[in-house]
Amino acid sequence: MSEIIETEVLVIGAGIAGAGVAAALADTHRVIVLERESQPGYHSTGRSAAIFIPNYGNDVIRGLNRASAPMFHNRDTGFFPEPLLTLRGSLTVADENSVEVCEKFIRNGIGVESISIDSAISMVPILSRDYVKAAAYQPDAQDIDVNALHQGWLRKASTLGVQLFTNTEVTSAKRVAGGWIVETPEKVFSAGIVINATGAWADLTAAMFGVKPLGLTPLRRSIAVLPAPEGHDTRNWPLVDDINEAWYLKPDGGRMFVSPADEIPVEPHDAYVDDMILAEGLYRFEQAVTVPVNRVERSWAGLRTFAPDRTPVAGFDATVDGFFWLAGQGGYGIQTAPALSALAAALIRGRAPDPTVEPLLSLLSPARFT
Ligand SMILES: Cc1cc2nc3c(=O)[nH]c(=O)nc-3n(C[C@H](O)[C@H](O)[C@H](O)COP(=O)(O)OP(=O)(O)OC[C@H]3O[C@@H](n4cnc5c(N)ncnc54)[C@H](O)[C@@H]3O)c2cc1C
Repeated sequence: MSEIIETEVLVIGAGIAGAGVAAALADTHRVIVLERESQPGYHSTGRSAAIFIPNYGNDVIRGLNRASAPMFHNRDTGFFPEPLLTLRGSLTVADENSVEVCEKFIRNGIGVESISIDSAISMVPILSRDYVKAAAYQPDAQDIDVNALHQGWLRKASTLGVQLFTNTEVTSAKRVAGGWIVETPEKVFSAGIVINATGAWADLTAAMFGVKPLGLTPLRRSIAVLPAPEGHDTRNWPLVDDINEAWYLKPDGGRMFVSPADEIPVEPHDAYVDDMILAEGLYRFEQAVTVPVNRVERSWAGLRTFAPDRTPVAGFDATVDGFFWLAGQGGYGIQTAPALSALAAALIRGRAPDPTVEPLLSLLSPARFT
């Protein structure tokens, strides 16, 4: 048997969740991160739409969004030299059947403004006047530099002594006195605490540790990259989404990312686009604009993994000692990562979490499913 590499905390998965919690814990704990792929961020973290919308998600997510904002705005410039957020704005449009839904969204949202159809079309001139019958605007939606956030956390973790092993897939684990023995094809690790930050694989990982899965479901979402429509400069357009989440458009570097906003339940895997789902989504998008979709430059798909109540899971397992869940971040895992990383680190240190997140503890705890 190979030599056992010992640590206090073993993080499995080096996406945004694993990187964030490793960086947050590194000044008080010896931490090792294991990642199956050859590079961190290969799965959901590297495939997101990279947007921060404070008003996006259920009440718990919104609480996490609020708690995450200060880290984004007052970043540690030693590890994050460039700004992590850039103002984008978010425009929501509704067709004739959804005007009331849009009005309700404006009434109930915080920081959601009602804007005229003329203003919406002047912001994004390809929107069809025949389609748009109501609109709402959120000026504070921002683009996230996901790579800068992820690499900054990995750099911070490494500077503080965290070891990252790539090409290292956890394949089995057993409980021993005071912790875990965790096996990978080439190395064996021991740790007092294991953090499950394996994204779409989180339920499978739990089962490997003899922990009851929580019913997490990976939902596939795809994105097509389209050239800017002829005669239009898309760079300063806001993100545009349909009030019923039938599609969304995000400008990116002079191109357009258009997503069918698909949510197809799948097994965890290296996600790829279903051409039919993409074509149907692009058709829905075409109904809302005045330009045809003539060319898709490229496309990709990723997995957004949700708990049954569409709220993340952060906390120690209710029945098995030393097993910490950091999973189920769904479509909000980048924008909520600062608050979730800080919360996970506080719980593992046995300290009180940030007072703004404290009221959310029981709603995030895996114990809510037992
Ligand atoms: C199309 C799309 C758009 C999105 N848009 C946004 C957005 O605009 N804003 C936002 O905030 N969020 C967005 N999200 C959601 C966000 O990307 C995810 O919530 C987040 O990336 C999840 O991070 P993670 O670290 O949990 O998972 P991942 O990034 O998937 O990381 C999990 C890691 O665990 C590793 N792993 C799994 N099993 C093992 C094992 N046995 N041993 C070792 N390693 C293992 C995997 O290889 C993987 O690298 C979007 C997602 C998608 C797909």
